[in-house]
Amino acid sequence: MIQYIKIPVDATTTALEITCPMCNSTHIISVDTDGLKAYENGALVQQAFPNLDTYAREMIISGICPLCWDEMDRQWLDEYYDDEEEEDFEEEEPTTIEIEDDEYFTMDLEDFFAKVLGLKVD
Ligand SMILES: [Zn+2]
Repeated sequence: MIQYIKIPVDATTTALEITCPMCNSTHIISVDTDGLKAYENGALVQQAFPNLDTYAREMIISGICPLCWDEMDRQWLDEYYDDEEEEDFEEEEPTTIEIEDDEYFTMDLEDFFAKVLGLKVD
């Protein structure tokens, strides 16, 4: 659990002052005071603060602010797409079967299965 400063706002709301460990910026998140008590007593963050968005929950868990999250996401995506580009895969030619139209009419069923569907019929 990260360190935060609790600032009482009113009877039901507490503001948390959280300093991001990555960029040192300070952020204020308002939370439900009862939810905060539940969280400090071991409740999961999503259960204690069901109304907070993912970024705010993440700040309470790790202290990392939305900007730093986005930065990490971008780095991850950049790496991901770099890998993707390096991989040179050969485009596979689609398999096509060319049959003259009138062949259909002269083929018997067995030939049809064998030639068009690649199946062998006993
Ligand atoms: Zn940050």
